[in-house]
Amino acid sequence: MAVERTLSIIKPDATRRNLTGKIIAKFEDAGLRVVASRRIRLSQAEAEAFYGVHKERPFFKDLVQFMISGPVVVQVLEGEGAIQKNRDVMGATNPANAAAGTIRKEFAESIEANSVHGSDAPETAANEIKFFFRDLDIVG
Ligand code: ADP
Ligand code: MG
Repeated sequence: MAVERTLSIIKPDATRRNLTGKIIAKFEDAGLRVVASRRIRLSQAEAEAFYGVHKERPFFKDLVQFMISGPVVVQVLEGEGAIQKNRDVMGATNPANAAAGTIRKEFAESIEANSVHGSDAPETAANEIKFFFRDLDIVG
C-alpha cells in the first residue's frame, strides 16, 4: 500500500469541547502522522465552497452554519493508505452507526456535529489539501 496524504478537519463541536488532543491521538495511534496543521475560523464563503459538492442536499445550509460556529483544526495526515485509514478511524457519518473505538462513536454529538471530516478518495484528498495548504506548509 502506498503512502498517501489526506485532509482532516476537527469540527467546531470537538474544538468547543477541547477534544483536539484526544482526536489527534486516535490518528497517531492508527499510524497516521500530522504533517501540516492549522487552527482557523472558516468564513461562510469558505465553508460553502469546501462543501460545494453537498449544496443541493437538504442539510447544506445547517452544515455551513455549524462549520462556521467555532474554530476548526485543518490538518494533513500522512501514512500507508491514509485516506481509507482515516475514514476507518473516523467511523460512520452517523455516530449511531459508527463502530466501537472510532472517533465518531466516542465523541460525535449527532449526524451533523460529528467531530471530524476526512477526504473520501485520492482526487478529493488532493483538492481538499490544496484548499487549505501550500506545498511548502506540508512537512513530512
Ligand atoms: P462524511 O463526513 O462521513 O464524508 P458526507 O460527506 O455524506 O459524510 O456529509 C458531510 C457532512 O455533512 C457530514 O460529516 C455531516 O456533518 C453532515 N451531514 C451528512 N448527512 C447529514 C444529515 N442527514 N443531516 C445533517 N447533517 C448531515
Ligand atoms: Mg464526505
